[in-house]
Amino acid sequence: MTDPKYGEREPPSVPTSGDSKVLHRSLKEQPRKVIKADGMFLYLEDGAKILDATAGAAVACLGHNNSSVKEAIAAQMDRFSYCHSLFFSSDAAEDLCRLLVDSTRGQMAKAFIVSSGSEAMEAAVKMARQYFLELHPPRSGRIRFIARKESYHGTTLGALAVGGHVARRALYEPLLSPNVSHVSACNVYRGMRDGEAERDYIARLTAELDDEFQRVGSDTVCAFVMEPVVGAALGCVPAPKGYIAAMKSVCDKYGALLILDEVMCGMGRCGTVHAWMEEGVVPDLQTIGKGLGGGYAPIAGMLVSHKVIDVLGKGTGAFAHGQTYQGHPVACTAALEVQRVIQKEALVERVCRLGPLLAQSLRQSLQDHPHVGDIRGRGFFWGIEFVRNKTSKEPFDPSEDVAMAIHHLGMKDPHNISLYPGTGTVDGTLGDHILIAPAYNVDEQQLEKLVERVAAVIREYFETCYSPGEKAGNGTTNGVQNGINNDDPRLNEDAPVLLL
Ligand code: PMP
Repeated sequence: MTDPKYGEREPPSVPTSGDSKVLHRSLKEQPRKVIKADGMFLYLEDGAKILDATAGAAVACLGHNNSSVKEAIAAQMDRFSYCHSLFFSSDAAEDLCRLLVDSTRGQMAKAFIVSSGSEAMEAAVKMARQYFLELHPPRSGRIRFIARKESYHGTTLGALAVGGHVARRALYEPLLSPNVSHVSACNVYRGMRDGEAERDYIARLTAELDDEFQRVGSDTVCAFVMEPVVGAALGCVPAPKGYIAAMKSVCDKYGALLILDEVMCGMGRCGTVHAWMEEGVVPDLQTIGKGLGGGYAPIAGMLVSHKVIDVLGKGTGAFAHGQTYQGHPVACTAALEVQRVIQKEALVERVCRLGPLLAQSLRQSLQDHPHVGDIRGRGFFWGIEFVRNKTSKEPFDPSEDVAMAIHHLGMKDPHNISLYPGTGTVDGTLGDHILIAPAYNVDEQQLEKLVERVAAVIREYFETCYSPGEKAGNGTTNGVQNGINNDDPRLNEDAPVLLL
């Protein structure tokens, strides 16, 4: 049978996720539908009530269905929903940016509001380049960036080029800027040598960054880019004290900027409003996202230091970058109210106070598990890395799909808990971890219950589901049915869903 639209050709036959017209993460899988959400719980169409242990992707920091945020959004929509930032400003944008600048204790000068972390990173990369063009004399030879391996800074081509995550870059490698190079991540569990002191590890990484500046030409580098606590790419890996200061000193030595990507780890997630406050090293440019709007609107931002703004102010006086939806009044209102609630209810202080409890209870329950290699994090931002062998730290084979299978098991009865899976923990390809990142307003009892469920999923997975060498695909991820229709032979291939 031929279709007139395709002439003599058969219409393309693609396995689809039911009759959904959404281009889901996988064409082969139909995600279950959420019909309502409240506090820490997501209610699904099929009757399930899922504990959102990760606030989505470390986003829903106030939990779901917060009434004062909803009211603020509705009131803003009653006033107006949109105005173009080329011609107008709004109270929402003004008040949010003031709150953000104030939150840096005067260290930053301006805030630039966009709709996603990737866009915020694009803005930071471009701002760094513009800074050097506006210096007197202009440093037009500053065209390079140095970032780190096993890092993720966004999905758009500029941000993807900065990231060092092998698997996420692979498909697009030929399109990515060659002007980015990557040094080692700071990862105590994997990177620190046996018997090496933290101080010596930091010194080694400092020398590596210094060497890289010299290798590429120290006067060609715009900025060094890093996450203070590496989120999805490594599974909540904080830098040891002294590391960020050491990296900043190398940047200062060669006149390059320091860009801190706090899209995931910032805005209170790690127990300080900005993750850099833990060590007190102020970046030249900073990106924020997820916890900024808590999921009530798509919003992210770039914070710009006085040093950069002063140069632009004496130069062209304008950031050569703009977007239709920048500073969107409804998104700014949502984020403003989220931040006001966080301040009013002292939720960052709460994360700081209860973070050690979460850590202790995760460690008590899971530290001795033979397949838990490392538990690390800060505040309400914790990663659990899985290993085949605890002593050698040997990771699982990627085809065994361990992190995704644990996620799938968590989503099933009786667990009903959403855990955020990640892969490439060792080198961008090998390695599995899950993230725990609850809402900031959970209490001690809720944290205990959450950890009980996490531990139950992990134990059950390794005791009853995991079998070494079993391949993913075929409707299962290592022993856990994942909702794929097994009857369709086209589905019996691995579905490479990138976890981002
Ligand atoms: N930077 C980091 C550190 C992130 O974790 C992410 C998202 N996972 C991004 C940037 C990109 O953000 P978005 O997905 O909102 O574009």
